[in-house]
Amino acid sequence: MGSKNLMVSVSGIRGVIGMEDGLTPERALRYASAYATFCKKGKVIIGSDTRPSRSMVIPAVISGLTGCGMDVVDIGICPTPTVELAVKEMKARGGIIITASHNPIQWNALKMLNSKGMFLSPAEGEKVINIFEKGRFNYVPHNKLGSVERHDFVHVHIKRVLELDAVKSTLLKRRKFKVALDCVNGAGAVLSPHLLEKLGCKVVPVNCEPDGDFARGPEPVPQNLKMLSEAVRENSCDIGFAHDPDADRLAIVDENGTAVGEEYTLAFVVDYILSHNRGSVAVNLSTSRMNEDIAGRYKAKVHRTKVGEINVSLKLRACRGVIGGEGNGGVIYPPLLYGRDGAVGIALVLSYLADKKCTVSEAVAMLPAYVMIKSKVDASRAQVRKKMGGLKKAFSGAEINTDDGIKFDFERSWVHIRASNTEPISRIIAEAPTRKEARELIKEATEALVG
Ligand code: MG
Repeated sequence: MGSKNLMVSVSGIRGVIGMEDGLTPERALRYASAYATFCKKGKVIIGSDTRPSRSMVIPAVISGLTGCGMDVVDIGICPTPTVELAVKEMKARGGIIITASHNPIQWNALKMLNSKGMFLSPAEGEKVINIFEKGRFNYVPHNKLGSVERHDFVHVHIKRVLELDAVKSTLLKRRKFKVALDCVNGAGAVLSPHLLEKLGCKVVPVNCEPDGDFARGPEPVPQNLKMLSEAVRENSCDIGFAHDPDADRLAIVDENGTAVGEEYTLAFVVDYILSHNRGSVAVNLSTSRMNEDIAGRYKAKVHRTKVGEINVSLKLRACRGVIGGEGNGGVIYPPLLYGRDGAVGIALVLSYLADKKCTVSEAVAMLPAYVMIKSKVDASRAQVRKKMGGLKKAFSGAEINTDDGIKFDFERSWVHIRASNTEPISRIIAEAPTRKEARELIKEATEALVG
């Protein structure tokens, strides 16, 4: 359901502010009311990123929640994982995060959590959509309305990260890393600089004002990290870190100022955690093959899931995995949270470097190198289904996985084709040891789909 300005999905509602068919105050109110009706009663934690539109969205959300009798604990501007942690620790009924994550500034969104601080499952999300569409809300009389209180939780999040055994605070305080940090003036700015200081780092801040002025593209992909690279070079930093606006993702720039690509964040952490604690790993189908190569060194199993954070979280919980996440810089470390957290990513990456006594570029060089290429093609879900025979013929000999679109796995390379849920296009992702091979896989898939 939706338009080009609005997306209503099982993970929440996302839209453009100021458009009649976007995220209007009325839709924010109705969606929060639907969520509250779904939850029935109890405490709900809310938190937001730094987008200025939060001052319109938050009151609407609070009205919907309290109007249905739920008590709101507003923890203010904070990263998405801080809200997840607050739900878990404050034993709340759920949570709503007001953030459009890496979407441009004109967007905002509500993302729903369950009582475990995890994103709603698709089945739970469907229930909320159903109530939203029918408009049957559980509004309560004047003497049953919910309450609102403010609470700061960022310091608890920092404390919990520092308490983790895997975070080598003492070692890091001795190592005194010099770290450039780019928070895109998003929610990470209220947490990550303080965490780094507590880890004994000298921080060079880049876009660390929590004012919602996205001074670069909000996704922490290499082409958006020029300011960070420059800061690393000018200040001779050991490493540069970059978040997206709600700081659940983390990307790395090496000591030479080179953006190494988001895939390395998870790869470093997987290598680090497995080297101390052998157990299962869970990552989505579009994440780098590096993770299997690393896990192979420790004889650990890698589970692959459908794309979507909740799928990785559920798999990690089910297999009692020790580490997991998404190749887009999303580290999920179960002892803290079953959700992506950029802050825990920072602490674990630094612990890894201190543990290995190496620089970022040396750590990169120690891992098998792959080239990943992402492409799109005008092919709807129906078209992909129709061309399935052609695809299988083009990639004969590959291991086939159809959990999410179709993925062909070869010995050293793979190609994954997924139809978009929102547009009549399909995404093709290929990874191989060389750019030439990866390009070839993309070309063959494109030809089989539209040729
Ligand atoms: Mg995000």
